[in-house]
Amino acid sequence: VTVTRRQLLAGMAAAAAGLAGVFPVTQATGRSIIFISPHPDDETLAMGAAIAQHLAAGRQVHALALTAGTATRVRGELNGDAIAPWWGVRHDPAAEGYAPLTTAAIGQARLREWHAALDQLGVPQANRHEAGLQDGAVTVEGAMAAIRAVADGLPNTGLWTTSWVADRHPDHLAAGQAVRRLGQLDPIRWWDRRYTVLPTYWADPIRYPAPGRAWLLPADTTQRRKAINACRCYGAWQPRSGAYAVGMHSVDALFTKVMADPRCMVHRD
Ligand SMILES: [Zn+2]
Repeated sequence: VTVTRRQLLAGMAAAAAGLAGVFPVTQATGRSIIFISPHPDDETLAMGAAIAQHLAAGRQVHALALTAGTATRVRGELNGDAIAPWWGVRHDPAAEGYAPLTTAAIGQARLREWHAALDQLGVPQANRHEAGLQDGAVTVEGAMAAIRAVADGLPNTGLWTTSWVADRHPDHLAAGQAVRRLGQLDPIRWWDRRYTVLPTYWADPIRYPAPGRAWLLPADTTQRRKAINACRCYGAWQPRSGAYAVGMHSVDALFTKVMADPRCMVHRD
């Protein structure tokens, strides 16, 4: 069988066109970005579409969970101490097929949700990092050290985390302040710093950044769908398999907002 040059080129073009649908054409920049979650779920609630977007652009995306989120009130709700508004009836671990959750177990459950969400967004497993800081007690210094530990060996890396101004959770604010502080200390090393605003605060009259300082990132259909599917991971209820829907028990109204509009609001320093 002989193949003419013309046929060969046509075949290559067709193959390239087919591949482009599977593997989006990447931009020249393959530099790294670290998406920093104070708790497992912040990456999905505040940064999901942006994570999918950076992966589509060919960036080396890393995810860092500062804490395992063990301080959540959801542990008590799952153990039957209180009724979770989202669930609506009191949990009964014995009847529902699970042992009451220890602090360690709730952290493991939350990190499983985080991993499942990152699977949907497309973050490689080798690029996921857990800092093990204490939930509810994240300090600027602790977050800075955790970020440096991951960024070591990643030159020219970008840092994305929750806002240092448009938020009310002290851990979120500390994460944002850590990134801001790194930029103040070494603006060349940490030149690319972005802060994401949870939808809770998009119209917050007190904490919302000054007009013009924050903007909604455009996201294409695939990126939006991936962000929505990441949200679904936080609603998985299958206690015999270690899935406790912790995220949804915790902030179901916020997940509903993100699933309705998964774009990310971003600001700089
Ligand atoms: Zn959080």
